[in-house]
Amino acid sequence: MADEKSYKYVIVGGGVAGGYAAREFTNQGLKPGELAIISKEPVPPFERPELSKVYIDSGANPTLAKHYVCAGTGGERQYPKWYKDKGIDLILSTEIVKADLASKTLVSDDGQIFKYQTLLIATGSTFVRLSEFGIQEADIKNIFYLREIEDSDELALAMEIYKKGGKTVVIGGGYLGLELSAALRANNHEVTMIFPEPWIMHQLFTAEMASFYEGYYANKGIKIIKGTLATGFNTNSNGEVTEVKLDDGRILEAGMVVVGVGGRPVTSLFKGQVVEEKGGIKTDALFKTSVPNVYALGDVATFPMKIYGEMRRVEHADHARKSAVHAVKAIKAVEEGRTVPDYDYLPYFYSRFFDLSWEFYGDNVGETILFGDNDPKNSKPKFGTYWVKDGRVVGVFLEGGTSEENKAIANVARAQPSVESLDVLSKEGLSFATNL
Ligand code: FAD
Ligand code: NDP
Repeated sequence: MADEKSYKYVIVGGGVAGGYAAREFTNQGLKPGELAIISKEPVPPFERPELSKVYIDSGANPTLAKHYVCAGTGGERQYPKWYKDKGIDLILSTEIVKADLASKTLVSDDGQIFKYQTLLIATGSTFVRLSEFGIQEADIKNIFYLREIEDSDELALAMEIYKKGGKTVVIGGGYLGLELSAALRANNHEVTMIFPEPWIMHQLFTAEMASFYEGYYANKGIKIIKGTLATGFNTNSNGEVTEVKLDDGRILEAGMVVVGVGGRPVTSLFKGQVVEEKGGIKTDALFKTSVPNVYALGDVATFPMKIYGEMRRVEHADHARKSAVHAVKAIKAVEEGRTVPDYDYLPYFYSRFFDLSWEFYGDNVGETILFGDNDPKNSKPKFGTYWVKDGRVVGVFLEGGTSEENKAIANVARAQPSVESLDVLSKEGLSFATNL
């Protein structure tokens, strides 16, 4: 007879959203034995963004426990003892392989059965593989992806082994490509980045913004090859990668390859059981799915983005944290016959690499105007971009801002002030935001 356990609440997925949801349950009043978090990863919920920053940098002598949630927002770190003290079952190294929402039953890879009254889906994203673009890679050694702690440990080990003048090719010019190229270079790898777009971080950066980062990376010794795709690999007799083949016929030497070509929400367990939209699980503004007592949080949720009047999915940490808190507040409010306001999220993305640090708030649509000094040779660069749509500022990016300045740009993106012309913004620069 399979082991069966019952809980009032089950969170599937022990990542950022799972960890912040657990804390909010305790804030709202949780009895021992009511909540279980079931996670495939062998470690408690941690601030995943650190994997490609401090944690991957072997020189920094990283300790994951420093990054357990809720370290990212200045809260108490949730060590295993925290869960124990609160009477929360933290069930690690356990993958849910079957979910039957009709009978409120989950089954794990080791045959355990979990029953719940309320389910919170927080399964996050996984990486897109090169094989999905038809590239043969399955049996080749030294090609690395990054999402979970085990990926990170394998990558950090390889970084250490191959660092002595090791030639590393990074495929992808998005978030991971940028952050991991910096970490590899800081660990003395000879790094070449390749990506298909005309400039780096094409999904957010304008060409002018990208030219700063590309110049900065070039000054750090990172080679960038744009507008090209990897088509395959050559290997040695041990099956280890030796070269990356490009679609323009070029061949790059490589002791290891790091891939960051996008993420995809992990929703397969629930396919056909919940309504989906835009690749994620459709929710209302309280993160309720189409199935009663089932909520979706973080990367997997496609929710109403009130500020822009459309359904969106967001693959960033700030939303994972805030959606988790909001969903738990909504769950408790329903139980107590109260209501909570709709989630009203202002998109916030950020990144850090080398000595740089940027923040972006709002929507990157419309016309753009660059302000500040974006000379890549500047040792303390400070520049930004405003996005203007229908005469209003809807998005702001700032590199090198202080916390006050970053608060000011967030206020602008939220308030969406009108502007007479782009010239005014160009002239006023950052003071347009700080004087608002
Ligand atoms: P996750 O944190 O991915 O957690 C999902 C959890 O669910 C994982 O533990 C997974 O193992 C588990 N799981 C999945 N399926 C099952 C199953 N069937 N059974 C049991 N468990 C399961 N965002 C930013 O805003 N800024 C950054 O600087 C930043 N850096 C990042 C760096 C890296 C390397 C990565 C990978 C992401 C980064 N992000 C960043 C994105 C951010 O980390 C995610 O948006 C956030 O983690 C999403 O939280 P989540 O809880 O939805 O998913
Ligand atoms: P991104 O979507 O940021 O970037 C993927 C990049 O790879 C895009 O520029 C994409 O181009 C490009 N690409 C697509 N196909 C190919 C291909 N065949 N060959 C080469 N390049 C290709 O995803 P990442 O992998 O960088 O990040 C994974 C997840 O982690 C995302 O959810 C991201 O939000 C998250 N993350 C967030 C961070 C942050 O917020 N600071 C940091 C690290 C990760 P195109 O746009 O044309 O498809």
